Amino acid sequence: MCRHLAYLGPPIPLSRLLFDAPHALVRQSWAPRDMRGGGTINADGFGVAWFPSTTVSDRPAQPVGMADTEPIRYRSAAPLWSDAALPGLAAATVTPAALAAVRSATAGMPVVETAAAPFQEGRWLFSHNGVVRGWPGSVAKLAAHLPTTDLLTLDAPTDSALLWALVRDRLRAGADPAVAVAGVVAEVEAVAPGSRLNLLLTDGGRIVATTVGHALSIRLGDGAVTVSSEPLDDDPRWEGVPDRSLVVATPSEAKTGEI
Ligand code: GLN
Repeated sequence: MCRHLAYLGPPIPLSRLLFDAPHALVRQSWAPRDMRGGGTINADGFGVAWFPSTTVSDRPAQPVGMADTEPIRYRSAAPLWSDAALPGLAAATVTPAALAAVRSATAGMPVVETAAAPFQEGRWLFSHNGVVRGWPGSVAKLAAHLPTTDLLTLDAPTDSALLWALVRDRLRAGADPAVAVAGVVAEVEAVAPGSRLNLLLTDGGRIVATTVGHALSIRLGDGAVTVSSEPLDDDPRWEGVPDRSLVVATPSEAKTGEI
């Protein structure tokens, strides 16, 4: 299934996450190490969104990870390794907060740009690694609680896009992001047991992530946090997140509890 990552901390070139690290996202797209039976390669599109670095000198300095504008997003239905322009653009793009994903489409779901994470509203960026079992029938009743307009404007007819609409609905209602994510996992598991629900959400200030059926690791240190399906390098600070966890992380701390 897909691979995803999020970073918060001192500004770094986007290329470090996508291309430069030994096990950067591009490598995870064609040679993932821990797919847990959920596919083999991640060739069905990719997406990346990053918060602009506050480099304009007349702006007040922002706290680390709290860029003051909305993220910029770039998605594609092509494999990450086939985008000839992105390595150069990513090397020239410095960011304090980013979320990126590569996709392995679940059988029966379309391979289109808009099905690739991150899904976005305002500052919120979201990704899903996994599958909703029994799609779409199993979650039809849950979906029916959403405003009809949300259903008519889903990013794509996929399980991940619906999960985003469910999380977004709770965020719009003012829910705490960790509560919103945990609530959606619980309601989807209730109707679609056996689903794999690794969710990843950030607003540029914190990262919320779950592990339900897929791998995830965290690295904390040097005023930065990276949450990634697979470690990007052999830094001993990478820690695997146990299955069935809810993670809330900022550049200074990561709290992991049972979901
Ligand atoms: N089921 C989702 C999709 O097809 C996510 C797939 C994944 O994790 N590989 O888009």
